[in-house]
Amino acid sequence: MKPERTPRGVALASALLVTGLTAISYAMTVYFLDHNVEWLWIAVLILLGFPISYFTIHFFIEKFLYHKVKIIYKTIHQLKSRGERTRIEMGSDVLGQINEEVADWAEERIREIKELQAADNFRRDFIGNLAHELKTPLFTIQGYLETVLDSDMGDQVTARQFLEKANKSCDRLAGLIKDLDQITRFESGNVPLDISRFDVVDLSRHCTESLEQMASEKNITLTLRNPNERPIYVNGDKGKIEQVILNLLVNSINYGRENGETRIRFYDMADNILIEVADDGIGMAKHHLARVFERFYRVDTSRSRHEGGSGLGLAICKHIIESHGQTITVRSSEGVGSTFGFTLQKAP
Ligand code: ADP
Repeated sequence: MKPERTPRGVALASALLVTGLTAISYAMTVYFLDHNVEWLWIAVLILLGFPISYFTIHFFIEKFLYHKVKIIYKTIHQLKSRGERTRIEMGSDVLGQINEEVADWAEERIREIKELQAADNFRRDFIGNLAHELKTPLFTIQGYLETVLDSDMGDQVTARQFLEKANKSCDRLAGLIKDLDQITRFESGNVPLDISRFDVVDLSRHCTESLEQMASEKNITLTLRNPNERPIYVNGDKGKIEQVILNLLVNSINYGRENGETRIRFYDMADNILIEVADDGIGMAKHHLARVFERFYRVDTSRSRHEGGSGLGLAICKHIIESHGQTITVRSSEGVGSTFGFTLQKAP
């Protein structure tokens, strides 16, 4: 930075100019009056005049700048108390600095406004989606109950069937609310992890066994591929990882094809283990892949909608895996199948 750009540089240059001009005027006046210039007086004039004019000019520039920039600084730095004095660094490029600070401040405000707009859109979308998701089971329950109430109550078997259907929709509603509660707790960072060392092959086997009945309805085979046939130990919250595996398996059945197969595979990756759940079902087009982990995102509501899904399953899986400091990804081709993979820290 050039020194003449600073207020102190300006004060110095002005003081030099004023002192020089005063000394020259004094010398010329004396010379024209009696031709006898006293160099001692000129030296005294310079030695005294320079500091006096320097400090006077410095003082007034500082005062001037202070009044001019006070409001700007108070606004951009949000200084509140009246006693807090804005510091003017006289040895620096004050105006250039203010310019930069105001530009940064404006940029920050624009960023904040954009964030607020995004949060507002997010909130609006969320409420819209939530109302839509709640509406379906609620209206179904209402429909069944109204039918039972309007009937003559003579046909107990039909009434019971309707009540059972209403009860199923109640279960769906309860599931949705449970998922919502869990996702809200994840987003507010209120879910502590209970980390332990466990065998992820054993846990996966347990998950496939518990879903065998559901898979058999579509004649889907659930297979575990572990070439080493040895346990694979990882560190994680066993209950929550079980929830992730179950969720991926349930999706592979819901979006799988009749007589299909779902495979769970394990890959050793230095510090981590990669667990993949691959199906040969309906798959997804590429442009959906980046969004399937968003809450309530559905690839194609008419094609893939199934009873019971909250549209929050994958969003919860992502929260669980990311809270372990790990990642979850998806590869898929329409009509070929999908592979969801997540990593977990290897345990010795
Ligand atoms: P849902 O309750 O709808 O299953 P998810 O969050 O689990 O909610 O999944 C979001 C969407 O991702 C699903 O609606 C479906 O469109 C798509 N999806 C998830 N898993 C698969 C899969 N294995 N194959 C094809 N599409 C899938």
